[in-house]
Amino acid sequence: MTKYSGKYINCPTCDAEMPLTGDEKTGEEVYCPYCQTPLKLKRNKDTDEPYLEEDF
Ligand SMILES: [Zn+2]
Repeated sequence: MTKYSGKYINCPTCDAEMPLTGDEKTGEEVYCPYCQTPLKLKRNKDTDEPYLEEDF
């Protein structure tokens, strides 16, 4: 499993930048520390870049 350590990722709800710890896995649910929105970590199939999607 690819690690994302040292990367930043943007919350789609409040646009805050969150640092990734490197322990997140694709499909894992995380909470934005700023707006508390439940988010799911996804990965762009083309660029392989991780991104977050709201998971209500
Ligand atoms: Zn947020």
